[in-house]
Amino acid sequence: MTPPRHRSGRVVCAAFVAAAGTAAIAPAAGAQQDMADVVIETIELESDLFMLMGRGGNMGLSVGDDGAFLIDDQFAPLTEKIQAAVAEVSDHPVRWVLNTHWHGDHTGGNENLGKAGAMIVAHENVYRRMNPAEFADVVGRSEQAPRAALPVVTFEDGVRFHWNGRHIGVTHIGTAHTDGDAIVHFPAADVFHMGDTFFRDRYPFIDVDSGGGVDGVIAAADFVLAQATDATRIIPGHGDLATVADLRAYRDMLATVRERVAGMAADGRSEDEVVAAGPTSDLDAVWGENSERFVRAVYISVTGENQ
Ligand SMILES: [Zn+2]
Repeated sequence: MTPPRHRSGRVVCAAFVAAAGTAAIAPAAGAQQDMADVVIETIELESDLFMLMGRGGNMGLSVGDDGAFLIDDQFAPLTEKIQAAVAEVSDHPVRWVLNTHWHGDHTGGNENLGKAGAMIVAHENVYRRMNPAEFADVVGRSEQAPRAALPVVTFEDGVRFHWNGRHIGVTHIGTAHTDGDAIVHFPAADVFHMGDTFFRDRYPFIDVDSGGGVDGVIAAADFVLAQATDATRIIPGHGDLATVADLRAYRDMLATVRERVAGMAADGRSEDEVVAAGPTSDLDAVWGENSERFVRAVYISVTGENQ
């Protein structure tokens, strides 16, 4: 058995690392200038509901007389640009920030927005991984965040918001991308934000060191597919706005790779042997050339080596 993996340090998601190189791992020094060229793009889903893209995880935004409700907040140097993007579509500031999980490319703006008066909401395990000083029993990755960056409201299975005239459902689906993922549903708009349980058109990063696992990622896709219509629009954690067909293709890819890797593991093959066997070679043309980290995460998931 592999011993439990204890790691600490800034964690961002694979897509961002691939785009920005090593600067993403240690952004402190060069972050300000690295972010200087970032433009926040606003995609209108309804007149009061938007997807925002900048650098890092995709954001969702509901606006109205109650105040802005923001899903994820990318990196700290982008906060002013994000606030400016909100101001373009609303007279009201950000009152709520809902973190889909704890990674730094989704929570990096928490401290700024928290100090500006936003209430931060997340799964309890987000709070734990961002506050290891109080939770010495956290297994795997964690990183102490400043107090203002921490969630002030946490949930276990889910929570509902009744805000800006909308009913906003937030659901936790077991251990998926991490152990603290939230999927957000705007039923009247037929819109989901799946956080990093969904990477559109690419292999996902499954953070097994933060309690993630491939079966939970598949379950997250199934959860959304079960409620989706042909018109459903899905904000993925990374990648462009997606359709149900995109999510179904992703789910099928996940299930295929999981089945292959589980079969090889059951035959006694090691993690390195499974990687060497190329279990995604016929899929790479569609999903990306570099599947190694994904395959290793699937292997660790199905063998329970991260338990
Ligand atoms: Zn992530």
